[in-house]
Amino acid sequence: MNKENLSPETKMLHAPYAAADAYNALNMPVYYAVAYEFETAAQMELAFTGKSPEHVYSRITNPTVQYFEQRVQALTGAAEVISFNSGMAAIANTLVAVASAGANIVTSPHLFGNTYSLIAFTLKDFGVEPRFCDLTDPEDVKAHVDENTCAVFLEVITNPQMEVADLQALSAICKERGVPLIADTTVVPFTVFKAATFGVDIEVVSSTKYISGGATSLGGLALDYGTFNWEQSRKLRPLVSASSLSAFSARMRREIHRNLGACMTPQVAHMQTMGLETLNLRYQRAATTCKALAEKVGKLNGVAAVNYPGLPGHPFYEVSRRQFGETPGAMFTFDVSSREAAFAFIDRLKLIRRATNLFDNKTLAIHPASTIFGTFTDDLRRSMDVSQHTLRISVGLEALDDLYRDIAQAVN
Ligand SMILES: *Cc1c(COP(=O)(O)O)cnc(C)c1O
Repeated sequence: MNKENLSPETKMLHAPYAAADAYNALNMPVYYAVAYEFETAAQMELAFTGKSPEHVYSRITNPTVQYFEQRVQALTGAAEVISFNSGMAAIANTLVAVASAGANIVTSPHLFGNTYSLIAFTLKDFGVEPRFCDLTDPEDVKAHVDENTCAVFLEVITNPQMEVADLQALSAICKERGVPLIADTTVVPFTVFKAATFGVDIEVVSSTKYISGGATSLGGLALDYGTFNWEQSRKLRPLVSASSLSAFSARMRREIHRNLGACMTPQVAHMQTMGLETLNLRYQRAATTCKALAEKVGKLNGVAAVNYPGLPGHPFYEVSRRQFGETPGAMFTFDVSSREAAFAFIDRLKLIRRATNLFDNKTLAIHPASTIFGTFTDDLRRSMDVSQHTLRISVGLEALDDLYRDIAQAVN
């Protein structure tokens, strides 16, 4: 049997590794080692200067973590995959790797709370200007991108607004202006959504969500598709070389990732490698249930509106279908009549868990305005379109009918 012709999902399960394990372990062992030993000073020099591939210190690379990265690479075709100890670490390291004082980041105010805070406050203090605009309006994007723009950054489905930008339109603007397109794709896994085919240059993912296999661990990934010409980047141009790493991955690997130290640990890499093996099965089940549930919940008395881009009539239905297929993620939101009604709904739930997080195996409910965005000012929440009437459901693997009955009894 020719192993080259296997489908990606099969290949992912059988990606080979240098099996020097004494016991022929069938899974990659968890290498809880900080440092690696060498025979000679000359070998040490080669390894420490990156001229030979041995591991030297686990903050930089670790065999179990590297295996996880290789499996993601086998599945996505990314040129380079770098893992982190959380989704926020992946996003922060990625933006730090492209940015420098005097540069600006063009993005939307519709962002995950911590990502918003990172761009609006943390990076701003280092002289990186945040530029918020409407990423669903190409003219507005064009008006905000200039020669100091170091990235256009977006989430492929925003939450809780459920806005979907047209990636091909954004990519066309980015290509014309010589700016990399960086996307947080956490809400639709790379088994389904092929970011690079829509012009995304760098993909960042919170692997805490679907990939961890049921909220087992925090983790993050940056995937470099090798599609961007970094000659166009003032900061990264000096790193463009004949080496196989892009200037972005070279700076990330040799400087940012090791200097900031937010490396994935081997135990987490092991759990998330296991999560990868069932990722697509779990996602298909959760997303199919989500679509059916959103449809039914939208018809309940007491529900003012349901928001899921996979339902016909949604303002982003067409663009969502083009990019993500029939089931864009396993999360939907709905509005009730007031903040009080939203709190009462949360309090009445019997099966669905009251918790933050997305894409656990268990279904979770939260009132975003008072929790994830609870410390933001009213003005800021309004500018981000986070309403006090909105509830968010992250759909897990339970039976559709059980979930529907719980929501129906809690709404009334
Ligand atoms: C959860 C999440 C993050 C942050 O990931 P952590 O692993 O919690 O750090 C970033 N972006 C999106 C879209 C998320 O859902």
